[in-house]
Amino acid sequence: MRVRGIASPAARREPTPPPDRAALREPPTRPPDRAALRESPIPPPDTPPLPEPTWPPRTTPGPPLGLYVHVPFCVSRCPYCDFAVVAGAATRGPRNRIGAFLAALETELRLRADALDERFGPPGTPVRPALETCYLGGGTPSLLGPAAVERILRSIADRFGLAPWAEVSLEANPGPDERGDPLAWRQVGVTRLSFGGQSLDPAELRTLGRRHRPADVVAAVEAARRAGIGSVNVDLLYDVPGQTLASFAASLAAVIEAGADHVSCYALELGVGEVDGAASPDRATGEAVTPDRSAPGRGALVWRRRMRAGQDPDRAAAMYELAAERLAAAGYRGYELSNWARPGHESRHNLLYWARWPVEAVGPGAHAFDGAVRRWTTASLEAYLAALVPRDGRPPEPPPGGREVLDPATARAETWILGLRTERGLPAFAAEDAAAGEAVAWAMAAGLMEVTAGEPGTSDRRVRLTRRGRLLSNEVFVRFV
Ligand code: SF4
Repeated sequence: MRVRGIASPAARREPTPPPDRAALREPPTRPPDRAALRESPIPPPDTPPLPEPTWPPRTTPGPPLGLYVHVPFCVSRCPYCDFAVVAGAATRGPRNRIGAFLAALETELRLRADALDERFGPPGTPVRPALETCYLGGGTPSLLGPAAVERILRSIADRFGLAPWAEVSLEANPGPDERGDPLAWRQVGVTRLSFGGQSLDPAELRTLGRRHRPADVVAAVEAARRAGIGSVNVDLLYDVPGQTLASFAASLAAVIEAGADHVSCYALELGVGEVDGAASPDRATGEAVTPDRSAPGRGALVWRRRMRAGQDPDRAAAMYELAAERLAAAGYRGYELSNWARPGHESRHNLLYWARWPVEAVGPGAHAFDGAVRRWTTASLEAYLAALVPRDGRPPEPPPGGREVLDPATARAETWILGLRTERGLPAFAAEDAAAGEAVAWAMAAGLMEVTAGEPGTSDRRVRLTRRGRLLSNEVFVRFV
């Protein structure tokens, strides 16, 4: 286990001085210097290398290196969304549930931290290093506002420890009423902003039910860069009904031109198993879907069935290849199947997942992993609140949920599949894994996997997907299950 220092809460509250706020509000008199905007920040000298998978596969529990916070609020619900989300009156207006959620979250952070203290001792020791990453996802966590996010981050730094160089990500929608002030985000400790851009084509945004305009995505990225946010990501969707190769190329070009450091491209998935309107039970509680639960409504399911007719796997493959080509030409590395970054801007938090390092998680619908057990929490916001802020005088308790102990075969399959998602892949000696021998031999013979030569002068040979293997990754992955 790597040893990390711990940042004091005071240190976390004193970021380097931000740029002059008044100057940022002045309309620029000339276009921003995009070349300067694209310069990578110099990482602090004690920043460790990016997380890598371990081999043999991890099967024993360890303290978390990352923490995910799920914030379930959105202004409205996009019809393709399967995340644990509440919208409308729960988010805005006199009956919103944000205050109740923040109180419950504070309690859950305390309970989870107490449990970790008991298992591994206090944070900031060799046995329990401070967190390397913290990710506020959702939902739309930017709707919480900087004061609430600062309180959450302070609690996390106090109880879990946060390394001085920790990556602190916040997801935001690009619209001006949702993204918040990037300078305020930076001042409260956010180092990375991730915008749900999805497309920069007005017709596609309408199709997807998004609230923002294409220009909002560019404005959000540029404002974040001017405010000195260390890394800025934009999510894009492809295989959107009505989308063409040309319109997808234009979205990519606009995001690159705006100066994003990181681009995630995901194929639009339209919930194939749920389009008949059969409400699936909550995975954690087994309860039928309730109005507070964020399952898509019948209207969304009908919309999905209609939209699926406009999808095309061949066009989707062409779009994926286009993304790989255009982003590589612009200096981004495809460090994971769906993720491209300029050097130094890879998502450390997501690399923890792909490398199967332990990650704690709080909030409704959140999934945690300790190296041996996966634990998940109910997606029902009301069930979450009832456990953590009981109204009948009972003491708070961890929210309902489930857990799965991973057997060695599952751990091995996960290590292969998640590791092969990354450009680095796995150490070459993993290819000698007898249990995966057939899958490895098949993928090598089909030209979908390769063993790389390694950097000159090193023995760092890797086994990974080939370019063709990245396109046909699912065919490879099923052979490891
Ligand atoms: S904004 Fe994002 S999280 Fe919210 S409903 Fe839309 S896709 Fe889901």
